[in-house]
Amino acid sequence: MGALNLLELAARKGARVLQSSTSEVYGDPDVSPQNEDYRGLVNTMGPRSCYDEGKRAAETLFHDMHETRGVDVRVARIFNTYGPRMDPEDGRVISNFIVQALKGEPMTIYGTGEQTRSFCYVDDMLDGLMALMECETCGAMPVNLGNPGEFTMNELADLVQKMIPTHGGSVYCDLPKDDPRQRRPDITRAKGLLNWAPKVTLRVGLVPTVAYFSKELELSQVRPATGMVEGGAA
Ligand code: UDP
Repeated sequence: MGALNLLELAARKGARVLQSSTSEVYGDPDVSPQNEDYRGLVNTMGPRSCYDEGKRAAETLFHDMHETRGVDVRVARIFNTYGPRMDPEDGRVISNFIVQALKGEPMTIYGTGEQTRSFCYVDDMLDGLMALMECETCGAMPVNLGNPGEFTMNELADLVQKMIPTHGGSVYCDLPKDDPRQRRPDITRAKGLLNWAPKVTLRVGLVPTVAYFSKELELSQVRPATGMVEGGAA
Protein backbone atom coordinates (compact mmCIF):
# COMPACT_ATOMS: atom_id res chain seq x y z
CA MET A 1 0.00 0.00 0.00
CA GLY A 2 2.89 2.36 0.76
CA ALA A 3 4.42 1.67 -2.64
CA LEU A 4 1.10 2.26 -4.36
CA ASN A 5 0.50 5.53 -2.50
CA LEU A 6 3.94 6.83 -3.44
CA LEU A 7 3.51 5.76 -7.05
CA GLU A 8 0.17 7.59 -7.26
CA LEU A 9 1.78 10.68 -5.75
CA ALA A 10 4.72 10.45 -8.18
CA ALA A 11 2.27 10.09 -11.09
CA ARG A 12 0.37 13.21 -9.99
CA LYS A 13 3.50 15.30 -9.43
CA GLY A 14 5.57 13.95 -12.33
CA ALA A 15 8.29 13.00 -9.84
CA ARG A 16 10.96 10.34 -10.15
CA VAL A 17 10.49 7.67 -7.48
CA LEU A 18 12.92 5.08 -6.15
CA GLN A 19 12.03 1.66 -4.85
CA SER A 20 14.58 0.42 -2.36
CA SER A 21 14.08 -3.22 -3.25
CA THR A 22 16.22 -6.03 -1.96
CA SER A 23 18.36 -9.05 -2.73
CA GLU A 24 15.63 -10.96 -0.86
CA VAL A 25 13.67 -10.99 -4.13
CA TYR A 26 16.12 -13.77 -5.10
CA GLY A 27 15.06 -15.82 -2.03
CA ASP A 28 17.41 -18.76 -1.38
CA PRO A 29 19.17 -18.53 -4.75
CA ASP A 30 20.40 -21.62 -6.56
CA VAL A 31 22.74 -19.63 -8.80
CA SER A 32 25.70 -17.46 -7.84
CA PRO A 33 26.28 -14.63 -8.33
CA GLN A 34 22.73 -13.36 -8.82
CA ASN A 35 22.12 -11.06 -11.77
CA GLU A 36 18.93 -9.09 -12.36
CA ASP A 37 17.53 -11.64 -14.83
CA TYR A 38 17.49 -14.40 -12.21
CA ARG A 39 13.91 -14.79 -11.04
CA GLY A 40 14.62 -16.13 -7.60
CA LEU A 41 13.72 -19.08 -5.42
CA VAL A 42 11.26 -17.77 -2.85
CA ASN A 43 9.07 -19.73 -0.46
CA THR A 44 5.59 -18.17 -0.41
CA MET A 45 4.80 -19.50 3.06
CA GLY A 46 7.85 -19.12 5.28
CA PRO A 47 8.80 -16.67 8.03
CA ARG A 48 10.61 -14.41 5.52
CA SER A 49 7.92 -14.66 2.85
CA CYS A 50 5.92 -11.53 3.63
CA TYR A 51 9.08 -9.43 3.28
CA ASP A 52 10.28 -11.17 0.11
CA GLU A 53 6.90 -11.31 -1.57
CA GLY A 54 6.02 -7.78 -0.43
CA LYS A 55 9.14 -6.44 -2.13
CA ARG A 56 8.49 -8.55 -5.23
CA ALA A 57 4.90 -7.28 -5.46
CA ALA A 58 6.16 -3.70 -5.03
CA GLU A 59 8.61 -4.23 -7.93
CA THR A 60 5.66 -5.35 -10.05
CA LEU A 61 3.69 -2.24 -9.10
CA PHE A 62 6.67 -0.02 -10.01
CA HIS A 63 7.04 -1.82 -13.33
CA ASP A 64 3.33 -1.61 -14.17
CA MET A 65 3.00 2.04 -13.18
CA HIS A 66 5.95 2.80 -15.43
CA GLU A 67 4.46 0.83 -18.35
CA THR A 68 0.84 1.96 -18.05
CA ARG A 69 1.13 5.49 -16.61
CA GLY A 70 4.67 6.46 -17.58
CA VAL A 71 5.81 7.01 -13.99
CA ASP A 72 9.55 7.72 -13.84
CA VAL A 73 10.71 4.87 -11.60
CA ARG A 74 14.04 3.49 -10.45
CA VAL A 75 14.43 0.10 -8.76
CA ALA A 76 17.50 -0.73 -6.65
CA ARG A 77 17.99 -4.28 -5.38
CA ILE A 78 19.99 -3.59 -2.23
CA PHE A 79 22.25 -6.34 -0.89
CA ASN A 80 23.31 -6.55 2.79
CA THR A 81 24.49 -3.10 3.85
CA TYR A 82 26.24 -2.06 7.07
CA GLY A 83 28.04 0.83 8.69
CA PRO A 84 27.82 3.51 11.38
CA ARG A 85 24.29 4.38 12.63
CA MET A 86 22.96 0.84 12.45
CA ASP A 87 20.63 -0.04 15.30
CA PRO A 88 22.71 -2.08 17.77
CA GLU A 89 19.64 -4.22 18.45
CA ASP A 90 18.36 -4.84 14.93
CA GLY A 91 19.40 -8.50 15.13
CA ARG A 92 21.38 -8.51 11.92
CA VAL A 93 24.67 -10.33 11.80
CA ILE A 94 27.11 -7.39 11.69
CA SER A 95 25.44 -5.56 14.56
CA ASN A 96 24.99 -8.76 16.60
CA PHE A 97 28.59 -9.96 16.19
CA ILE A 98 30.18 -6.58 16.94
CA VAL A 99 27.95 -5.79 19.93
CA GLN A 100 28.40 -9.29 21.37
CA ALA A 101 32.19 -9.13 20.92
CA LEU A 102 32.40 -5.67 22.50
CA LYS A 103 30.43 -6.93 25.50
CA GLY A 104 32.68 -10.01 25.77
CA GLU A 105 29.70 -12.26 25.05
CA PRO A 106 29.89 -15.20 22.63
CA MET A 107 28.99 -14.34 19.05
CA THR A 108 25.91 -16.27 17.95
CA ILE A 109 26.71 -18.06 14.68
CA TYR A 110 23.54 -19.53 13.19
CA GLY A 111 23.72 -22.98 11.58
CA THR A 112 27.17 -24.14 10.50
CA GLY A 113 28.26 -20.58 9.70
CA GLU A 114 29.10 -21.67 6.16
CA GLN A 115 26.25 -19.67 4.59
CA THR A 116 27.52 -16.59 2.75
CA ARG A 117 26.61 -12.93 2.44
CA SER A 118 28.18 -9.98 0.58
CA PHE A 119 28.38 -6.85 2.69
CA CYS A 120 28.32 -3.34 1.25
CA TYR A 121 29.54 -0.32 3.21
CA VAL A 122 26.88 2.36 3.64
CA ASP A 123 28.83 5.14 1.85
CA ASP A 124 29.19 2.96 -1.25
CA MET A 125 25.49 2.11 -1.14
CA LEU A 126 24.52 5.79 -0.91
CA ASP A 127 26.76 6.64 -3.89
CA GLY A 128 25.05 3.87 -5.87
CA LEU A 129 21.54 5.03 -4.92
CA MET A 130 22.35 8.65 -5.82
CA ALA A 131 23.85 7.58 -9.16
CA LEU A 132 20.74 5.53 -9.92
CA MET A 133 18.42 8.44 -9.14
CA GLU A 134 20.52 10.74 -11.31
CA CYS A 135 20.71 8.26 -14.21
CA GLU A 136 18.72 9.46 -17.22
CA THR A 137 18.92 6.21 -19.19
CA CYS A 138 18.21 3.63 -16.49
CA GLY A 139 14.45 3.45 -16.89
CA ALA A 140 12.49 0.94 -14.88
CA MET A 141 14.92 -1.94 -14.97
CA PRO A 142 16.06 -3.23 -11.58
CA VAL A 143 19.72 -2.65 -10.69
CA ASN A 144 21.68 -4.71 -8.16
CA LEU A 145 23.59 -2.58 -5.67
CA GLY A 146 25.98 -4.40 -3.38
CA ASN A 147 29.57 -5.45 -2.83
CA PRO A 148 30.50 -8.70 -4.61
CA GLY A 149 33.03 -9.66 -1.88
CA GLU A 150 31.46 -12.84 -0.44
CA PHE A 151 32.10 -14.11 3.10
CA THR A 152 30.90 -17.04 5.19
CA MET A 153 29.56 -16.12 8.65
CA ASN A 154 32.53 -18.02 10.11
CA GLU A 155 34.89 -15.74 8.18
CA LEU A 156 32.99 -12.68 9.39
CA ALA A 157 33.20 -13.95 12.98
CA ASP A 158 36.99 -14.37 12.59
CA LEU A 159 37.36 -10.85 11.21
CA VAL A 160 35.38 -9.34 14.10
CA GLN A 161 37.35 -11.37 16.65
CA LYS A 162 40.64 -10.10 15.20
CA MET A 163 39.40 -6.52 15.52
CA ILE A 164 38.06 -6.89 19.07
CA PRO A 165 40.63 -8.84 21.11
CA THR A 166 38.39 -8.81 24.23
CA HIS A 167 35.71 -10.84 22.41
CA GLY A 168 33.94 -13.69 24.17
CA GLY A 169 34.37 -16.41 21.53
CA SER A 170 31.48 -17.81 19.57
CA VAL A 171 28.64 -20.28 19.92
CA TYR A 172 26.69 -22.17 17.24
CA CYS A 173 22.87 -21.78 17.35
CA ASP A 174 19.95 -23.07 15.28
CA LEU A 175 19.69 -21.79 11.72
CA PRO A 176 16.47 -19.78 11.16
CA LYS A 177 14.05 -21.33 8.64
CA ASP A 178 14.58 -20.41 4.97
CA ASP A 179 17.90 -18.66 5.74
CA PRO A 180 19.48 -18.15 2.28
CA ARG A 181 22.60 -20.32 1.81
CA GLN A 182 24.43 -17.86 -0.38
CA ARG A 183 24.12 -14.32 -1.66
CA ARG A 184 26.41 -12.39 -3.97
CA PRO A 185 25.48 -9.61 -6.38
CA ASP A 186 26.43 -9.55 -10.02
CA ILE A 187 26.93 -5.80 -10.46
CA THR A 188 27.69 -5.76 -14.19
CA ARG A 189 24.55 -3.71 -14.87
CA ALA A 190 25.34 -1.10 -12.20
CA LYS A 191 28.91 -0.78 -13.48
CA GLY A 192 27.72 -0.29 -17.05
CA LEU A 193 24.80 2.03 -16.41
CA LEU A 194 26.06 4.02 -13.45
CA ASN A 195 29.81 3.68 -13.71
CA TRP A 196 29.57 2.60 -10.08
CA ALA A 197 31.34 -0.05 -8.05
CA PRO A 198 31.90 -0.25 -4.29
CA LYS A 199 35.25 0.98 -3.05
CA VAL A 200 35.27 -0.06 0.62
CA THR A 201 36.27 -3.64 1.47
CA LEU A 202 34.70 -5.37 4.48
CA ARG A 203 38.00 -5.25 6.38
CA VAL A 204 38.17 -1.46 5.92
CA GLY A 205 34.45 -0.74 6.48
CA LEU A 206 34.36 -2.67 9.73
CA VAL A 207 36.82 -0.24 11.36
CA PRO A 208 34.47 2.81 11.56
CA THR A 209 31.56 0.43 12.22
CA VAL A 210 33.24 -1.08 15.30
CA ALA A 211 34.18 2.45 16.49
CA TYR A 212 30.54 3.53 16.12
CA PHE A 213 29.15 0.55 18.08
CA SER A 214 31.73 1.02 20.81
CA LYS A 215 30.65 4.65 21.25
CA GLU A 216 26.96 3.62 21.21
CA LEU A 217 27.54 1.08 23.97
CA GLU A 218 29.38 3.64 26.11
CA LEU A 219 26.55 6.14 25.61
CA SER A 220 23.91 3.56 26.48
CA GLN A 221 25.61 3.11 29.85
CA VAL A 222 25.22 6.80 30.74
CA ARG A 223 21.81 7.38 29.15
CA PRO A 224 18.80 7.03 31.47
CA ALA A 225 16.86 3.80 30.90
CA THR A 226 13.97 3.97 28.44
CA GLY A 227 10.75 5.01 30.12
CA MET A 228 12.40 7.23 32.76
CA VAL A 229 11.37 10.89 32.83
CA GLU A 230 12.80 13.74 34.82
CA GLY A 231 11.61 13.55 38.39
CA GLY A 232 10.84 9.83 38.46
CA ALA A 233 10.01 6.68 36.61
CA ALA A 234 7.32 6.85 33.94
N1 UDP B 1 23.35 -14.62 11.51
C1 UDP B 1 24.17 -15.25 12.44
N2 UDP B 1 24.17 -14.76 13.71
C2 UDP B 1 23.41 -13.69 14.10
C3 UDP B 1 22.58 -13.04 13.14
C4 UDP B 1 22.58 -13.56 11.85
O1 UDP B 1 24.89 -16.22 12.12
O2 UDP B 1 23.48 -13.32 15.29
C5 UDP B 1 23.37 -15.14 10.11
C6 UDP B 1 22.00 -15.37 9.50
O3 UDP B 1 21.55 -16.68 9.79
C7 UDP B 1 22.30 -15.18 8.02
C8 UDP B 1 23.43 -14.13 8.01
O4 UDP B 1 23.97 -14.13 9.31
O5 UDP B 1 22.77 -16.36 7.45
C9 UDP B 1 22.94 -12.73 7.66
O6 UDP B 1 21.86 -12.42 8.50
P1 UDP B 1 21.20 -10.96 8.49
O7 UDP B 1 19.97 -11.04 9.34
O8 UDP B 1 22.22 -9.94 8.86
O9 UDP B 1 20.85 -10.69 6.98
P2 UDP B 1 19.94 -11.51 5.93
O10 UDP B 1 19.78 -12.93 6.40
O11 UDP B 1 18.66 -10.77 5.87
O12 UDP B 1 20.74 -11.47 4.70
